[in-house]
Amino acid sequence: MELRKTFQFEAAHLLPLLPKNHKCRWLHGHSFSVEIVVAGECDPQLGWLMDYADITAGFKPIWETLDHHYLNEIPGLENPTSEVVAVWIWKKLKPKLPLLTEVVVAETCTARAVYRGE
Ligand SMILES: [Zn+2]
Repeated sequence: MELRKTFQFEAAHLLPLLPKNHKCRWLHGHSFSVEIVVAGECDPQLGWLMDYADITAGFKPIWETLDHHYLNEIPGLENPTSEVVAVWIWKKLKPKLPLLTEVVVAETCTARAVYRGE
């Protein structure tokens, strides 16, 4: 069984390693969407994999670090591409959420990065 829970946060960033003529090199913002995916066996008694509230509780401190922040100033996010943000979230969340199988980070409605761990 697999559960997916979506969160949103607003944040600014720039991608400092890109050439100056690339639009992402300049400060801008996104309404980011993050999908947290967990998978495993359902508890036969309860009929569920886990409580969605536990996913929310695990993600909350990460969300608080990201929401309405300038991502480049957060340790580990000096080059905050969607890919880097997905790996950064994975490393913080996996110890708290062992059933984590996927972190999806979307900067726009049509583009997303998916990380499934090392
Ligand atoms: Zn961007």
